[in-house]
Amino acid sequence: MTDDTPMVEITDLHKEFGHLHVLRGVDLVVPTGSVCVVLGPSGSGKSTVLRCINELEDLTAGRIRVGGELMGYREGVRRGAPALFRRTDKDIARQRSRIGMVFQRFNLFPHMTALDNVVEAQVQVLKRSKRDATARAEELLQRVGLADRSDHYPSQLSGGQQQRVAIARALAMDPELMLFDEPTSALDPELVGEVLGVMRDLAASGMTMIVVTHEIGFAREVADQVVFMADGVVVEQGSPAEVLGNPQEARTKDFLASVL
Ligand code: ADP
Ligand code: MG
Repeated sequence: MTDDTPMVEITDLHKEFGHLHVLRGVDLVVPTGSVCVVLGPSGSGKSTVLRCINELEDLTAGRIRVGGELMGYREGVRRGAPALFRRTDKDIARQRSRIGMVFQRFNLFPHMTALDNVVEAQVQVLKRSKRDATARAEELLQRVGLADRSDHYPSQLSGGQQQRVAIARALAMDPELMLFDEPTSALDPELVGEVLGVMRDLAASGMTMIVVTHEIGFAREVADQVVFMADGVVVEQGSPAEVLGNPQEARTKDFLASVL
């Protein structure tokens, strides 16, 4: 992977669920170190794109490269034809470990403290020693502003705090790419800012990020690229000034009017 290899390169991605043709030719390039914010109405396929990048879904057609490496290559394979190339579970696990994902729901282990939630996968997946994993977890909890909450259980934390633990947990795997799927949508409004603040810091640190969100202010401030999706295609993409400030497509204008 050379310096100018994009972190993510999606070409003509199609995804069908049975007869439902959900992604209809998505193209997207996310340069290394950049932040891409994906906007779009519910049902437009935003989560499916993220899930394909993470190989949580098989592609129906198209290609995805992450860090130059081909993922889930099934070009030309449509409607149940046999796959040309199938990746092994080991390939997928290795590739997926390079990608951190944060969902709308925090999915913390309820019976573990914040610290242990951040330690767990480091020991299980990366085979770090308990001592190293704990040191790294403490450092990350500090980074997300929760050093003083490390021995709290999820039920003792606010939604915003839980989401910050979830971000620390994803970062503990040393990902090259972070995917966020509506990370603040389940939060009370007063807790949204603390999570966006952590994400803003992460972006400033140079992390490559794809963020699905309706937070237009975040998109305007932090995104290098804004992508507007509808009905399984990218309708419009460009800088925040272009897409948010001067949208060209009627669907983009209608959507922005509905969320602003
Ligand atoms: P968004 O995240 O933009 O709201 P999604 O990617 O979740 O959209 O969904 C796009 C479409 O795909 C929706 O019509 C949804 O119902 C459908 N869909 C998503 N996942 C599945 C699935 N596992 N099986 C069948 N349909 C699905
Ligand atoms: Mg979604």
